[in-house]
Amino acid sequence: MATVPWLVDVLRAAGVQVVVEGDWLNRSAGSSFAPIGVLWHHTAATSSASNPHPALNICINGRSDLPGPLCQALVDYHGVFHVISANRCNHAGVSRGSGPIPAGDGNTLMIGWEIDYNGVNQEMTAAQYNASIAATAAVLKRLGRDASHARGHRETSTSGKIDPSFIDLNTMRADVAAKMAGGGGTWSSVVDNSTAGRFAASASWGTSTYSTQRYGTDYRFAEPVAASDAAWYKFNVPATANYRVDAWWPAVSGYNSATPYIVSTTTGNRTVIVDQRATGGQWRTLGTFTLPAGDANRVAVSRWSSAAGLIVADAVRLTRV
Ligand SMILES: [Zn+2]
Repeated sequence: MATVPWLVDVLRAAGVQVVVEGDWLNRSAGSSFAPIGVLWHHTAATSSASNPHPALNICINGRSDLPGPLCQALVDYHGVFHVISANRCNHAGVSRGSGPIPAGDGNTLMIGWEIDYNGVNQEMTAAQYNASIAATAAVLKRLGRDASHARGHRETSTSGKIDPSFIDLNTMRADVAAKMAGGGGTWSSVVDNSTAGRFAASASWGTSTYSTQRYGTDYRFAEPVAASDAAWYKFNVPATANYRVDAWWPAVSGYNSATPYIVSTTTGNRTVIVDQRATGGQWRTLGTFTLPAGDANRVAVSRWSSAAGLIVADAVRLTRV
């Protein structure tokens, strides 16, 4: 008899994409399971858009030194939850106690999400983060526990685990708490170059799928010129307030080293220069700006750069802070 047979339904009701991996209701690593919290991990495998869940087989079947299942769900590169087990899994080892989670058998005490990224030179994707927040909030609500019952493995491990890395766990818990409270205060919106009605660029901007670091199916590119000819991102900003502006670009060594992003704020346009030869395939923060309420062009990529190399326009994200 499965302990958390409701897991798939609860995740789907929270808007999380779910793939059921085989006989998840009966797959189990032992019988002692009475979860009061959720534990976050990273897998240490390098995922990508074309290889979104490299650790899935190991999480289902285990390793030579540790029998599977190794987590209740694996979170792939695209934020899809692959549900593996409704029972006890070998993900946590011994808990040394963290927050409201006592010392003891971590596999009895917690449901585990293995977020599939390497944690060394790869952070979790925005899709993984958002899905993990939504899933954790929904499961803790079902368990009747608050956001403090979400922990990171590095907080409960007695053996020096570092996962999940590249993330502030207090920020992650605060986002879970906000989600559980109804999502207030965490308004966030992504506009990709393919988002209907929200991206505008002249015919001088080509379309490419060259770099696998792209967000979504493709991105736009143009030669630098001594004119703006900007590609604009339109957002329906809910209130005049402060918003963090993040940009995502695929990086290629020959792209532009001084690409201007323009942010249209309550006090006029502000320009932020980024190097599109590096740090691609992830959200990079341009800064926090006060934006006016209303549905209008808010962020742009300009072609006006004195540096050589193609300018690219992929995705932009606003998050209320
Ligand atoms: Zn771990």
